[in-house]
Amino acid sequence: MTLAINVDSFFIGLHGYALERETLASMGVNLELRTLPSAEEIIRGAADAEVILVEHPTTPLNRSVIESLPRCRLIAKYGVGLDNIDVQAASERGIVVCHAPDYCVEEVSDHALMLILACARRMFVLDRHVRAGGWSGISPDPPIRRFREQAVGLVGFGRIARRVAEKLSGWRMRVAAFDPNIGPEVYAAHGVEAASLHSLLEQSDYLSLHVPLSHATRHLLGSEEFSRMRKGSFLINTSRGAVVDEGALIAALISGQLAGAALDVTEEEPLPVDHPLRSMPQVLVTPHFGARSEEAVQSLRRTIIHSIAAFSEGFCPPFVANPRTAQEQQLQPYHLWKGAQEIL
Ligand code: NAD
Repeated sequence: MTLAINVDSFFIGLHGYALERETLASMGVNLELRTLPSAEEIIRGAADAEVILVEHPTTPLNRSVIESLPRCRLIAKYGVGLDNIDVQAASERGIVVCHAPDYCVEEVSDHALMLILACARRMFVLDRHVRAGGWSGISPDPPIRRFREQAVGLVGFGRIARRVAEKLSGWRMRVAAFDPNIGPEVYAAHGVEAASLHSLLEQSDYLSLHVPLSHATRHLLGSEEFSRMRKGSFLINTSRGAVVDEGALIAALISGQLAGAALDVTEEEPLPVDHPLRSMPQVLVTPHFGARSEEAVQSLRRTIIHSIAAFSEGFCPPFVANPRTAQEQQLQPYHLWKGAQEIL
């Protein structure tokens, strides 16, 4: 039997793991659930694993952990972002890294849109006003403007941002995006203007972040960028908290340079109970919830089960972060795997 260890078992309360256990057992994979939140605990508690499953965005699969997993051949991330996994270190040890990049594109794009609209209509300010016993006489500052006549800027123009742009097209408003890795035809196909980061900062009323967290994107938005943003504009972040320098964001909110922020992700998660972002009236925070729906969870589980089952039979998982390593390990192409039709 192949031994697969889930090192954080984060979704245990959400759905249990009977489906994973039964399906994988029938494929010769024994799934064990462990709770190993720190690097030291993973090194001690998962040394025997051939497959590592990881769910939480901050569970550290860094170089020292990866180099201490002598039997590991596959790391499967229940999610999109791979910023908690050192993919380079894994590749150097011949470990294939797979994930599920398409499971929540619908949900996160809905969530980003919801946050953009909540800023535009100042939903959280109005709701708090009513909850505090108020009704008439409120006049949000800065004043609410017609959404359709404003501009949305998307930083990163991958799967989620493109879906945000498609959904925004219903308003026929101005949408621009910055992404150094895609060609002009992609922007054109989505009816979006291509922009530099600087011009996006200067022209957007709502700036929505959709980049992966990497060395290049850590603190991509800091005090200089906030000072270039339109006065009275809003920041929306559904990507990763550390893409934003939170200290600089708080300063920009206090000075009024930014009118508000709506964040699904924060630099530290869970957000500490005494964190200033929790009490700023112009800030809306959701608890890293953008990906959630019943359908997304089912799709995520199916992708991860397929990935491990295919791998155990010598096939490449459907979404691999280091395809060259998969080739070196002589895995056969996923589309040749017959199991995809037979299970789930
Ligand atoms: P994607 O890989 O399809 O798109 C990311 C885009 O960012 C790519 O097109 C890439 O070229 C671009 N990019 C990379 N570096 C950049 C830079 N320096 N400046 C501008 N663009 C840059 O990813 P996606 O599916 O759209 O997801 C985006 C991110 O959203 C993920 O990496 C993940 O961190 C986050 N996410 C959050 C949740 C949530 O629950 N809130 C759920 C899923 C994903």
